[in-house]
Amino acid sequence: MPGRSRRCPMASPDWEWQRRAACRGQSLVLFFGYEGERQPQKDIRERKAKEICAQCPVRVECLDYALSRPEKHGVWSLTEDERSSERRRRMRRAAMAGVTAADQGPDGVAEIPQMLGLEAS
Ligand code: SF4
Repeated sequence: MPGRSRRCPMASPDWEWQRRAACRGQSLVLFFGYEGERQPQKDIRERKAKEICAQCPVRVECLDYALSRPEKHGVWSLTEDERSSERRRRMRRAAMAGVTAADQGPDGVAEIPQMLGLEAS
């Protein structure tokens, strides 16, 4: 059909945010390091990369992208270790979001043992 896109929208992720990335044109080494890099050099490099990230208008999109896939290397707004922590934090939050208000105790803390059937209600 003339004028209609033949591409499946699900097959084409939104890359628009990458066009606005502050790291465009920067050295990949600054964000991904190099073979044999030692920890002190890595710390300095990551700090420099994160200075660029701090000015980036698409930090949220970048981090969401990196967390949505097994991206183990590089600085994507956060370092590898920071992303691991953030990934765990989001998983805990998502698990807690499955807790309904009725499952909350009087102080707002979920009655998790009760929910798991470990205590009589
Ligand atoms: S947050 Fe950092 S790594 Fe991500 S797009 Fe922006 S500058 Fe690049």
